[in-house]
Amino acid sequence: MYDAKIIPIKLIDARATPRESGESALIHRLSNFTGVLHDALQRPMLDLRISVTDRCNLRCTYCMPREIFDKNHVFLPRPELLSLEEIARAAQIFTSLGVRKIRLTGGEPLLRRGIEKLVEKLSALRTLNGEPVEIAMTTNGVLLAAKAQALKDAGLSRITVSLDGLDQAIFARMSDSNAEVKSVLAGIAAAQRAGLSPIKVNMVVKRGVNDGEIMPMAEYFRNTGVILRFVEYMDVGSSNGWVMDEVVPAREVIDLISTRYPLHPIDANCTGEVASRWVYADGAGEIGQIASVTQVFCHECTRIRLSTDGKLYTCLFAEQSGTDLRALLRQDSSDETISDAIINSWQNRTDRYSEIRHEVPAFPRNKIEMSYIGG
Ligand code: SF4
Repeated sequence: MYDAKIIPIKLIDARATPRESGESALIHRLSNFTGVLHDALQRPMLDLRISVTDRCNLRCTYCMPREIFDKNHVFLPRPELLSLEEIARAAQIFTSLGVRKIRLTGGEPLLRRGIEKLVEKLSALRTLNGEPVEIAMTTNGVLLAAKAQALKDAGLSRITVSLDGLDQAIFARMSDSNAEVKSVLAGIAAAQRAGLSPIKVNMVVKRGVNDGEIMPMAEYFRNTGVILRFVEYMDVGSSNGWVMDEVVPAREVIDLISTRYPLHPIDANCTGEVASRWVYADGAGEIGQIASVTQVFCHECTRIRLSTDGKLYTCLFAEQSGTDLRALLRQDSSDETISDAIINSWQNRTDRYSEIRHEVPAFPRNKIEMSYIGG
């Protein structure tokens, strides 16, 4: 067992009062995480996102456009995927370095055989403070109805379901599939029955395609306890043909909903939360916004990503291939060696793509596909 106490890492002394030089409350808040790794911008490594498969049963145009991910697309062969045991071992090492929340993503994680077994292994992990590590999942919900109870029983804490509209034709256009909205809604209902909580629904909004679904979605999820979050369409990967004109700014969504239902902003649940939070003034529940284009949040980004084949990425918009943990895992490297690789990767991290998006040349770029490193 690798003893976290002797890790030679740069600890920021939380007892230190902000220097007279006006060290921002933000830096002080970020430095409050002792025993946790901090990157070059003093952001703690708290959240691990694991892509457990690069395959998906949908072809959402902003993530896996069919013209690129067509029938000739070569997905990762099974031996190249991290095994469930390798994922669990890597996750254990991450928690010994301060990770508190693990999110399972993909592609579509429910396509991964043995996903419940993996959840069970991960739910046995403890944080540095001895608390259970929070296990979350992001899914497109199409297979959720049949799996929700088993995931809950295995130890899944919370779930986020991607749903870009209620109108079948618009949903089919956004997902470029013949999957049915009702199967996703059945999945959400099954997750509620199973007691997964909170349940969040992420709606990516693309102007001219599904922005007309903003109000129907808001209406549908009011008074259900489900937290609907509107996601600004992002230039993830290098294949979705992103243009700024198709982005519906978060502010515009709030203004639209507020015309019918007044909203109040509320504080984040925790440092590094990606969504800004709002509640309906009439008590009908909470909505959120993930505004990576117009209200960037890189200054509080606490996320590291492990790809389906075991590479580390320190930003959703990364270009370079990251540290290869799979090689270390398969060379029977010690936990210490693997920890050192993670420490090195995070401590040298300076990513803040969303802050500089408009300063860097749009093309040519070779950003890693979101379906490979997880959203
Ligand atoms: S752009 Fe990169 S650094 Fe910024 S919030 Fe997203 S993942 Fe984090």
